[in-house]
Amino acid sequence: MGASDPTVMTTQAVDETGEGSSRILQTRDLRKEFGGLTATDDVDFSLEEGELRCLIGPNGAGKSTFLNLLTGQLEPTAGAIYYDGHDITDLPSYERVDRGISMKFQVPSIYEGLTVAQNLRIPLQQVADGDAFEARTSEILERFDLLAEHGTVASNLSHGQQQRLEIGMAMALEPNLMLLDEPVAGLSVEETAEIADLLREISDDDGVALIVIEHDIDFVESIADRVTVLDQGSIFREGTIEAVENDPEVKRIYLGEDH
Ligand code: ADP
Ligand code: MG
Repeated sequence: MGASDPTVMTTQAVDETGEGSSRILQTRDLRKEFGGLTATDDVDFSLEEGELRCLIGPNGAGKSTFLNLLTGQLEPTAGAIYYDGHDITDLPSYERVDRGISMKFQVPSIYEGLTVAQNLRIPLQQVADGDAFEARTSEILERFDLLAEHGTVASNLSHGQQQRLEIGMAMALEPNLMLLDEPVAGLSVEETAEIADLLREISDDDGVALIVIEHDIDFVESIADRVTVLDQGSIFREGTIEAVENDPEVKRIYLGEDH
């Protein structure tokens, strides 16, 4: 640990997410206020290594805000975020990425004017060079079914291909934790099934932990180990998709929603 390391290895961070703990992530009393509105209300959330967790809840429940606190796009009003043995609450986004937290935002963040291969090079050049770089590029193109499109300008890809490229870019950084905000919104049934398979593989084969925000309950059912329901900024329920789906209180908070 260098002297320039900006994280604090607090006892609590080590106890909750360090060596000897199977947890990769823990938030404690995490809170975000926007003026008078509490978007994240003292959330204690934990995630196991390699787990695939879906985050659901009505519009405005605070799902995106919570993910943005984890990425560092937003600063919490109070509380702490422990990840892999460290307190990362005050760590800037790019350093969270360096530590293995990678993100796929609700708004696509590929470079539309660049080709598929050029897009992939941006994250890859941070982790590989020379032969390794070429090998990793081919590997990711193949895995994300984009070999034939390697020279295609990203704006000409289908929506499903763009989503796969973006997940490939996130995987290029060899993360331990991947955060995805609505990765199948607007996709066809076939495209959605492809993404579901990819995310399951990333969890099962690569051992990457994932938090996936999604409205499509069939998709959630097809991928999630466990589900967390957020409502009004708080964790409302947590459990298997079956338990959560059949909970009358969960049905109640969704009433009046048009999806
Ligand atoms: P979800 O993703 O579950 O739909 P959000 O996290 O986007 O919910 O929003 C939670 C609440 O916080 C909403 O009431 C929303 O209007 C509010 N909110 C989100 N971002 C901001 C912001 N930057 N400024 C003010 N209010 C915000
Ligand atoms: Mg949202």
